[in-house]
Amino acid sequence: MKTRRGPADLKLLQEMNRAQVLETIRAYGPIARVDIARKTHLSPTTVASLVGDLIADGWVRSVGEGQSRGGRKPTLLEFNARAGYIVAIDVTDSFLTIALTDLNARELEQEQYIPHRLTGDALAELISEAAGNLLNAGAARELPVVGIGVSTPGLVDAGAGVVRYSLKLNWIDLPLGPMLAERFHFPVYVENDTNAAAMGEKWFGAGRPFENMVYVTVGSGVGAGLILNGRIFRGFTGSAGELGHMSIDKGGERCECGNIGCLENLVAWPAIWARVTKAVKRGVPTVITEIVDNIDQVTPEILNKAARAGDQLAVNALAEAGVSLGIGLANLVNLLNPEAIILGGELIGKDSFMFQHVQKTMATHGLRVPGAAVRLIPHQLGEKARLFGVAGIVLHNLLATRFWSSSTGPSADPHFSGRQPVIRRR
Ligand SMILES: [Zn+2]
Repeated sequence: MKTRRGPADLKLLQEMNRAQVLETIRAYGPIARVDIARKTHLSPTTVASLVGDLIADGWVRSVGEGQSRGGRKPTLLEFNARAGYIVAIDVTDSFLTIALTDLNARELEQEQYIPHRLTGDALAELISEAAGNLLNAGAARELPVVGIGVSTPGLVDAGAGVVRYSLKLNWIDLPLGPMLAERFHFPVYVENDTNAAAMGEKWFGAGRPFENMVYVTVGSGVGAGLILNGRIFRGFTGSAGELGHMSIDKGGERCECGNIGCLENLVAWPAIWARVTKAVKRGVPTVITEIVDNIDQVTPEILNKAARAGDQLAVNALAEAGVSLGIGLANLVNLLNPEAIILGGELIGKDSFMFQHVQKTMATHGLRVPGAAVRLIPHQLGEKARLFGVAGIVLHNLLATRFWSSSTGPSADPHFSGRQPVIRRR
């Protein structure tokens, strides 16, 4: 049966085209109208009209002229990242970072707090105060802020803006999103830290070319953010990505989760640290004791340095952990067949000794076709990935609510305060 196309269909089509044009300008700008038409397969007339709307609404601006291709020089257009501003908040168990960014997640101001041993309601109150301070002082007071994004450890119900459970921060069913939305009257998005970092790398870092990728972080624990078909995959109860509790050693140690032989107990820093300090206390020789007075003070950086200098204890500890992580990642690759795995966290820097062992083990333990296709890439954004990620979540939801969105970016579910963001033109 043929359906009649009414004005509503036409409007939807226009909105989708407008979103597509804006997304093209954002991704490829500065760009000429003729190239937008080529990339979107829309007619030059349609592009000209949509661009006119976007300029009038403040989303796009012209930024000079491009090379002439045998006629008038074309005007180049770019996304107006100053059309709005975002408050991005990164909560960890050792510090609280709060930043003001533009719509490209470029940081304009940043404040850091070290909430020593602060957890529970007191920490939630500090976050609210810190956001208040940022919004009441400096640039934020003058600017059209469009939303707040928060990254936090623990199990997060992104749709409700509630931190269901965070052992580290002593939060159970904390309605952080509604709390902040009530006070500040912006849309607030709360996201798990690993998912936030995964989205940060996907939108602004090493993950940009990929629609199917896994961000893996190795530090005090092991976690994964799964981006499948361009969207974050949360699982049924929101806990997808618990790579650290993949059991790979049936004779291994008991994990805090109750299981035996979890990956985390073989490759996370506390496990490596325990193995290294135990060996030194047993009398195994190492240069580490010349670098630190007390072996308990050894850090990932020092261990990497010792391994690169050929210290056998450090080499063995990191190689062993690298092999275990490689096995875990080979399992992941066999299961999901991703385009890329982005490795993040303090143990896996660009010059990390572990990296090559992870790579080698993945190659020998994975299935041939997905194993040969997957790319293992070090992170690009480091600790900043979470701030980029939550800023990106605010931006993509803003564009989605504005433009009906044909946007293919990974999305978090919003928690709205009821008031829609308002873009004021400057
Ligand atoms: Zn476990």
